[in-house]
Amino acid sequence: MQALLVMKFGGTSVGSAERMKVACDLIAKEASRRPVTAVVSAMSKITDLLLETTRCAEAGDQTGIDRGLATLETRHLEAAEQLVSAADLERVQQEVRDLVADFRRIVSGMQMLGYRPPRAVDEAIAVGERLSALLVSEHLRSRGLKATAVNAAEAVVTDAVFNNASPLMDATREKANARLQPLLQAGETPIVTGFNGATTDGRPTTLGRGGSDFSASILAAALGAAELWIWTDVDGIMTADPRLVPDAKILDEITYSEAAELAYAGAKVLHPRTLAPLVERRIPVWSKNSFSPDKPGTRIVPALTAGNSGARAVTSMGNVALVSLEPSNSAVSGVHIMAKALDALDRVNVEILALSSSSYRQSFCFLVRNEELDKASEAIETALALELTHGYVNGIEVDRNVGLLAVVGEGMRGAWGLAGRIFTAISRENVNVIAIAQGSSELTISVVVRRDGLEKAVRAVHTECHL
Ligand code: ADP
Ligand code: ASP
Ligand code: MG
Repeated sequence: MQALLVMKFGGTSVGSAERMKVACDLIAKEASRRPVTAVVSAMSKITDLLLETTRCAEAGDQTGIDRGLATLETRHLEAAEQLVSAADLERVQQEVRDLVADFRRIVSGMQMLGYRPPRAVDEAIAVGERLSALLVSEHLRSRGLKATAVNAAEAVVTDAVFNNASPLMDATREKANARLQPLLQAGETPIVTGFNGATTDGRPTTLGRGGSDFSASILAAALGAAELWIWTDVDGIMTADPRLVPDAKILDEITYSEAAELAYAGAKVLHPRTLAPLVERRIPVWSKNSFSPDKPGTRIVPALTAGNSGARAVTSMGNVALVSLEPSNSAVSGVHIMAKALDALDRVNVEILALSSSSYRQSFCFLVRNEELDKASEAIETALALELTHGYVNGIEVDRNVGLLAVVGEGMRGAWGLAGRIFTAISRENVNVIAIAQGSSELTISVVVRRDGLEKAVRAVHTECHL
């Protein structure tokens, strides 16, 4: 069989019946030449709506639940009307209602409990992707293409970290091939739900917000695809978020490492874990715009064909908090405090975005996402309960008025004076630099600044680095 292409469509690329038709044009065009597997996100804003509805259920807000269910159903029923032929419409609309009923059932359980168990949340929010996979596959069928909607719970095997699961690649390879290869051999195009999977014993999971990119790369690796194309709403990976820096430019090519660093430091265009499954097989990825499909987009590759120098892109994160810890006197080992704190964070799965320490005072600070702050603080308070009670550690300090700016580029390794120019550019804007971190790979320079100066700082650094 010819080499497989995996194509992923993000929320805006399947955000309406019109956008689904365009996505289907792109799928049909490629599927006429080679085997294709498509991975689809939920229609734009649907995952937010589903999550909000589960919160209403937890709070016992019946009006909120009804509103959520009605919006969910109407949006997909109306899209179905434009996507499938009259002969199939009733059947497809019934399938939409059945999926909405699945969601309603889970939400009712939450309402009764007054609680949202993480695993029930995962089962509930995966309904968004199941609805869009249904509509996309039905539209392709109405155009005469052999397409089948597949729930990724039947193909992607994950651990049991609900809401942020990781794939078990060996098990996934087996299950994905068993489920999808027979379809591909029969000339079908599987339309697989992004974002979700299931544990070995079949409990539904999701891969974290924005996780459909990750789903697509997991499947591309598992199926041994030749390429992965990620369709989104911008022309590719840019030197900065175009919403923040209007003159940001498209990068023709970028390495796996650069793309991963950018995504990790907040560039929403890719889910941070997308590249990992592709490294071993060196599967190339294209980031492309479904609103301008003829533009080439950005190619993400193991290594650049032409060398590059200096910084390549700047990115930022606003929803972060800086947590600082300091031993109360020099007799207390700062390394011990740090080790205990980091161990505690690891145990509750908190991701550290940047870390900085001072050797004399043995104080250290680290940056976490706002949504992980409570979990992080609780874990550290528990782990350091003794030290805090006896006053060996000054209290845990939290600063929410901060933002992270990161400059990324393989060519920054050993680049003279770059860090100095970055700091000068930031301070010229009168923005305070609070902490600095540079990974040992020298691929990224991370700067924590005052939150209200973040956007200004990003623009200043973008100009200074001639991006
Ligand atoms: P999708 O729904 O297709 O997955 P996302 O909204 O998750 O799309 O990601 C695309 C968005 O990422 C763009 O609209 C853009 O605003 C944002 N973005 C942030 N940083 C960058 C960057 N460096 N290059 C391109 N887009 C970026
Ligand atoms: N629909 C999910 C989300 O909004 C996954 C994705 O779109 O990548 O987070
Ligand atoms: Mg995304």
